[in-house]
Amino acid sequence: MKYRECEEAARAIQAAAEKFYRLRYQMSNGGNLSVRIPGHDWMMVKGTDVAFDEVRPETLVITDFDGNVIEGSIRPSKEALLHGAIYQAVESAGAIMHCHSPWATAWAADHDELTFATHHSGMKLGGRVPVFDTHSYAVPKECFPMILEEFAKNPKMNAFLLRGHGQVTVAADMRMAAYLAELVEETAQIALLAAAGKR
Ligand SMILES: [Zn+2]
Repeated sequence: MKYRECEEAARAIQAAAEKFYRLRYQMSNGGNLSVRIPGHDWMMVKGTDVAFDEVRPETLVITDFDGNVIEGSIRPSKEALLHGAIYQAVESAGAIMHCHSPWATAWAADHDELTFATHHSGMKLGGRVPVFDTHSYAVPKECFPMILEEFAKNPKMNAFLLRGHGQVTVAADMRMAAYLAELVEETAQIALLAAAGKR
């Protein structure tokens, strides 16, 4: 990588990806994560079909916000366009985590927003975590306005769920985006267990 900040971004992405693979929040070769490259309209993003435990500098790629490759020898993840659209629309977004974590995805199956089952989630998850129905394994471009509109309505929004797919968190840096995704997963697990206990 050409730039010092890119090396830092690569290390942060690799650490988060390894952690999420270990936690089984992202198995197989799906999911995606990215970091904004400061001073450019660029991001560093995982290559397509790369598993989270295979993330290395050579399986990452730098692209512009339309997914055009600036540097790297691998095609960017199919989700890169959504990440680019979020970076363009949400100035405070410095990193994005997207994973198919099981409890969050299970919650999204038949709810329209995440219930804040703990005080912690109510405090840290930006007021509301909506569920979007995008009817696809990768969020199609025509669904971007629906998601970006929610960010415009609630500038504190830092997480959302995708029905039949997974979760996305947005934060200033990768470490924080990963913490938020862990909190979303924990919250969904507690909400589902609490709902099961009431039956
Ligand atoms: Zn996905």
